[in-house]
Amino acid sequence: MEYVKVNGIDREASRIGLGTWAIGGWMWGGSDAESSVQTILTSFELGINLVDTAPAYGMGMAEEIVGKAITEFGARAQIVIATKAGLEWKDGDVRRNSTKERIVHEIEDSLRRLQTDYIDIYQIHWPDPLVPVEETAEAMRQLYNQGKIRAIGVSNYSIEQIELFRAAAPLDTAQPPYNLFERDIEPDVLPFCRQQSITTLVYGALCRGLLSGKMRPDTRFVGDDVRKIDPKFQPPRYPRYLRAVERLDQFARKHYGKRVIHLAVRWLLDQPGVGVALWGARRPEQLNAIDEVIGWSIDEAACSAIDRIIGETVMDPVGPQFMAPPARKNCGGLER
Ligand code: NAP
Repeated sequence: MEYVKVNGIDREASRIGLGTWAIGGWMWGGSDAESSVQTILTSFELGINLVDTAPAYGMGMAEEIVGKAITEFGARAQIVIATKAGLEWKDGDVRRNSTKERIVHEIEDSLRRLQTDYIDIYQIHWPDPLVPVEETAEAMRQLYNQGKIRAIGVSNYSIEQIELFRAAAPLDTAQPPYNLFERDIEPDVLPFCRQQSITTLVYGALCRGLLSGKMRPDTRFVGDDVRKIDPKFQPPRYPRYLRAVERLDQFARKHYGKRVIHLAVRWLLDQPGVGVALWGARRPEQLNAIDEVIGWSIDEAACSAIDRIIGETVMDPVGPQFMAPPARKNCGGLER
């Protein structure tokens, strides 16, 4: 495993972090609690010590499972828990809410579910257009001063929002989407974070499984699985993305003796400015591929060849914007 220093955290964090959105079940067609605990414990055996979770993942369920697994593991101090605040839910509808009132209340629920008395990396899940960034930052600074959190992070923030936040509180990490197919942060957020020493925890390493190499034209998703509405998994784009994955797999085999899943995560780790790649898994065997990601690197010429493959196959790329939760609204206007 490779490790990285994160401001505020006294132990280095693994550069592959376990993502637990699917472990919460919500938007992933459900999940199995026992298999989820085993997945988390397996990730620790493989050298992962950073676990990314959020209250919204299964409306508390992912955090509870993470808390259970860490308690079973026994060595809380060895683990870097990254969780989030700033989303609320009612009757299954998730909305943004980054008021100070909400954040200082939410952390108590997270601490209880995670069975701990501090959070290593506490992140604002999505910017809230109804709340001044300064109010949100001030809430995070208060939690930091109280010793309830060790590092402050934001997720899905633009550079402008990051700058406003940093004027009111220190900022240690940022969590944007980034993978071979979702590259929006390359011209701005990624170089900015690098220059400002903000550690990035990039999410969607496998593009929701597309880059695992396991997807087929007839793969079907069940229940509320997000891939039923993900435009990359719908015609006419789906066959093009599958073709890109097939060609990337051929490239990985020919040049490195690896598969596309290894190439996708290695590529992420080799991009300047990437601190941690978040890999979502909910079954232990999904982590078998990790060994093959470590111990080699992708050079510039290979990066150009990879870009050419994607440019030739994905003519009409689309980002992850479809996942963005709405702001709070009320019939007549916006409500706080
Ligand atoms: P991901 O890592 O791109 O893909 C995860 C999915 O890929 C898994 O649930 C699994 O799907 C499949 N997969 C994983 N390993 C596999 C393997 N070895 N073989 C075949 N399939 C495999 O997606 P993600 O979970 O969306 O992103 C990672 C993490 O980033 C999340 O868990 C979460 O912690 C974080 N995230 C944050 C935000 C945010 O707004 N801050 C948004 C999204 C994600 P199946 O189990 O269905 O096979």
